[in-house]
Amino acid sequence: PTQYNAPGNWPTNVRGRVPIDPANPAIVRDDQKCILCGQCIEVCERIQSVFGNYELPIKKDFVCVNCGQCIQWCPSGAISERDDINKVFKALADPNVTVVVQTAPATRIGLGEEFGMPVGTNVQGKQVAALRKLGFDVVFDTNFTADLTIMEEGTELVKRVTGELHHPIPQMTSCCPGWVKFVEYFYPELIPNLSSAKSPQQMEGALIKTYFAEKKEVDPKKIFSVSIMPCTAKKFECQRPEMNSASKELNDSNVSPDVDVVLTTRELARMIKRAGIDFASLPEEEYDKLMGTGTGAGVIFGTTGGVMEAAVRSAYFLITGQQPPAALWNLTPVRGMQGVKEAAVNIPGVGDVKVAVISGLANARKVMDQMKAGNAPWAFMEIMACPGGCEYGGGQPRASSPPSD
Ligand code: SF4
Repeated sequence: PTQYNAPGNWPTNVRGRVPIDPANPAIVRDDQKCILCGQCIEVCERIQSVFGNYELPIKKDFVCVNCGQCIQWCPSGAISERDDINKVFKALADPNVTVVVQTAPATRIGLGEEFGMPVGTNVQGKQVAALRKLGFDVVFDTNFTADLTIMEEGTELVKRVTGELHHPIPQMTSCCPGWVKFVEYFYPELIPNLSSAKSPQQMEGALIKTYFAEKKEVDPKKIFSVSIMPCTAKKFECQRPEMNSASKELNDSNVSPDVDVVLTTRELARMIKRAGIDFASLPEEEYDKLMGTGTGAGVIFGTTGGVMEAAVRSAYFLITGQQPPAALWNLTPVRGMQGVKEAAVNIPGVGDVKVAVISGLANARKVMDQMKAGNAPWAFMEIMACPGGCEYGGGQPRASSPPSD
């Protein structure tokens, strides 16, 4: 553990894993496993367009958006997420702590693969049951706050389009922390285009330590908030200094960050295996009620185009006061695995609203350069760092053939 916390004094070529760069909160490496194949550089430079000009084994400080795609491409297991399992086991063992967990949409689709189930098996009920068996006190669904994000982003989009809010168009989604860091680093002049809504993970974390704590009369200082995410960048997001809304709201610096620990889908699978739980034979269980329900709009956050589809439906309703027509319930042009997709949506009173859905940061870079050149016909853009979106996130079970578009 001391290796993880020693930026500036970090060893190289030592036994065990160290951060991939001195301050990295999400990705670690083991040089003794590195076979110098260069796959991590290939994905980082060509598919993600982040950075590739570094030496192997990786030693220098470099830009990392924490997307974790290098983990999916590394054939030797030399790169992995930082392992935070022991922090969670420690909290679960403390009888004075209420351990609350939320699970992102894509994790229920990925987790089964770790237990030999066919790709795409929905194991939502078994995942909830496994979390209760592990000892989590309360199990919530991040779909609840995916719905809140949609309402926030839809409302903000309407205000930008109608001119009520003097923020630039296109509005860009802000729920992917890898994408947000990419903009902050490479295109800071476009930060005002990012939606002001924070991600579903961070909304749920803030509500757990405020709304849930108040409703259930639990001391927020004694809540340990865990997220199960398909994503390594969420480990970075939860430790951003601004992600402590509950502490600010309650004016109590002793309340820990809104989300204390993020575990990837792979880490949850390791916890289940370490606890000796027979995952396949678990009965299906339901989420806890207070923040454990979500709509179909929240569910589709896990796939590329999902945030867009859900936000456009909400914007339609907010502007017209009516349910969207059938075409908006199946916005097929923004579905599928292509890296850049476009559609036009006619909203009465506003006209045609052009939208774009982008996944993979090399695709995002091309579109950002287009925007900077003044060629951005869209009102709303959904952008996800991982090619194919969170289903193929850096924290999901390692795919045999990751999308390469
Ligand atoms: Fe995380 Fe999803 Fe963004 Fe990938 S696309 S970095 S999994 S939020």
